[in-house]
Amino acid sequence: DFSVRLGAHSRDELGQLGTSIQTLANELQRLKQERNEFLSSISHELQTPLTYLKGYADVAKRQSNSEDERNKYLNIIQEEAQRLSQLLKDLFQLAQLDQHTFLIQKQKIELYTYLKNIVEHFDLALKEKDIRLDFNCPKGIEFNIDPERFQQVVVNLLDNALKYSDDETEISLSVEKLPKRVNIVFKDQGIGIPSTDLPYVFDKLYRVEKSRSRKSGGHGLGLSIVKEIVEAHGGKVTIESKLGQGTTVKISLREDV
Ligand code: ADP
Repeated sequence: DFSVRLGAHSRDELGQLGTSIQTLANELQRLKQERNEFLSSISHELQTPLTYLKGYADVAKRQSNSEDERNKYLNIIQEEAQRLSQLLKDLFQLAQLDQHTFLIQKQKIELYTYLKNIVEHFDLALKEKDIRLDFNCPKGIEFNIDPERFQQVVVNLLDNALKYSDDETEISLSVEKLPKRVNIVFKDQGIGIPSTDLPYVFDKLYRVEKSRSRKSGGHGLGLSIVKEIVEAHGGKVTIESKLGQGTTVKISLREDV
């Protein structure tokens, strides 16, 4: 008799195995649900720009349009198509990051020159809103990062700082060297994030207020991409924010051992 031969000890082990299987099944169920929720968010997210595209295409076709009106509608169509294309690019990037099918290819990078170069791309956007960027990075810090992937992190965070700040405010990007690690801190004096939303801003497709984010062109993937890339570098990202006062995002990277 098999069960007799197993003895009491093994029966305990069988019990534990049963519990583990149950835990696994629950986890699978949770993942399945998460995937379904994500898929339905994506469908919803794709539906919005498509509705705009269709609506404005209909309006633009009207014979009664003046040239100005037609141009206005065509511009909106162009912008919506651009948003749609950006959304698909971001989704594709997240899918790659999620599956770990991408490789982080680190190289030794001098942070001052690297960041300065990225920051310079924001000159025009900063001028448009009359926002001053305080760039604070000691020269000569060398760190191992994947320059292409990490650029996306810096761009997304500067983009957000700009998007969610009023004109004539200040943004800062500061780098701090600690023993065996480096902190890169993005700070703005923008509209801030309500404390009830703060825990979720790194979730995929999460936006604080759909309308304020949509107006500024966001679809709630920027911070998820930041988190994935930073974690793929073995780093950590944290966010602090006060509504109406501003937001601080801190990236902490460890030196490779
Ligand atoms: P989005 O593309 O919508 O900006 P993100 O993933 O980058 O998406 O950010 C998620 C949400 O967090 C945004 O919808 C926005 O409401 C909020 N958020 C992110 N960064 C900031 C910031 N610097 N200031 C205020 N709100 C922010």
